[in-house]
Amino acid sequence: MSPDKASTRSASRVFAREFHRTLPKAMRGEGIWIVDSEGRRYLDASGGPAVSCLGHSHPKVIEAVQRQAALLVEAAPAGMDKVFFVCGGSEATEAALKLARQYHLEKGQPQRRHFISRRQSYHGNTLGALAVGDNPARRATYAPMLMEVRHIATCYPYREKRSDETEAAYGRRAADELDRAIRELGPENVAAFIAEPVVGATLGACPPVPGYFKRIREICDRHGVLLILDEVMCGMGRCGTLYACEAEDVVPDILTMAKGLGAGYQPIGGVMAHRRVVEAIESGSGALMHGHTYLNHTVGCAAALAVQRAIQEEDLLANVRRQGERLKQGLEERLGNHRHVGDVRGRGLFLGIELVQDRASKRPFDPDLKLHARLRDAGMSEGIVCYPSGGCVDGRRGDHVVLAPPFTVTDREVEEIVERMGRTIDRALRSLP
Ligand code: PLP
Repeated sequence: MSPDKASTRSASRVFAREFHRTLPKAMRGEGIWIVDSEGRRYLDASGGPAVSCLGHSHPKVIEAVQRQAALLVEAAPAGMDKVFFVCGGSEATEAALKLARQYHLEKGQPQRRHFISRRQSYHGNTLGALAVGDNPARRATYAPMLMEVRHIATCYPYREKRSDETEAAYGRRAADELDRAIRELGPENVAAFIAEPVVGATLGACPPVPGYFKRIREICDRHGVLLILDEVMCGMGRCGTLYACEAEDVVPDILTMAKGLGAGYQPIGGVMAHRRVVEAIESGSGALMHGHTYLNHTVGCAAALAVQRAIQEEDLLANVRRQGERLKQGLEERLGNHRHVGDVRGRGLFLGIELVQDRASKRPFDPDLKLHARLRDAGMSEGIVCYPSGGCVDGRRGDHVVLAPPFTVTDREVEEIVERMGRTIDRALRSLP
């Protein structure tokens, strides 16, 4: 069997095994707690995959969904004038890629069709989104169907920053890979660069070093390449600012959002475009060549509006920043000297813990040990839902856990998360052969 076939098969098997595991059945949610069919309570410290930013069963959202109100998204970055709503993150990525392509057509540059993205990124599971992402297990089966995309290194200071390098120098070096990739493809052929400001599922809440995205923005501008920021996971307040790119002081051409937009109450995602992109289409063909039946669906929009209003009215972003600091500090104190914890990172209530076999060399655990699955199971036993991922098949990162509790999390719950997470890691490690 060719190596390609073998890796496709083994990736599919891993996926199938994970898929068929029987987990406790969630019966209801109350704030930060999930209750299973046996009445057991789990502290939901990851909100699904960083979705449930308001906790479960928020009365205002439930009421608004029932009323089907209209939607307005306020406080967008300057110039980000238009937004339309889709049904989730993958749809948002597809729409963003098409929007970028159409922009260049409208500007008389039809040869601009190449996309550049980053390794260890995830942008969704539909074909365009899988092509720009770099999740080996999810891509393997469909590889022959995916458009060709150039992947550059992501900004991953824990592993990629050299010890003799400043953060600023590393940021420049990492960003300059984009410049090289654009030149190699020919700037006149490149449509857009897509990246997550804070990398979620594939890299465990990994923020960039300061200045990295500013340089990325400059490089895109220099070559007429659009910048698409995927804020499906890290946006809508998760990192302590409404949009994660605010902390980078960068405005993209296109921004995608989803999870925290509707907080899991309804399937909804959004695509926001800068005025210059909108104007190119409005003064060109006049219509975006894209659409789905459920575009701008009123029930989804009503839920999103209620979520965003609750976040504003309850001043929850301040709580995200405060509790995010406390959670990070608590995790650092509890796990900072742990022999298998390589890194505690993240921003706001979007935190990651990277586990390694050996701290000095940063060597990951053998993927066959499936540490991420053990962490999930250990979490269940400790009564905490976290979001582990890894089983790193590529040797480029360790296993990691994402923590993304609701924005409403309290002092006491933060302490519980730290305690239960510490016990979860120890329990998972004890289960290794
Ligand atoms: N983009 C990012 C950064 C994500 O984390 C995800 C989902 O995890 C997606 C896109 C795809 O979103 P969805 O699962 O809603 O299609």
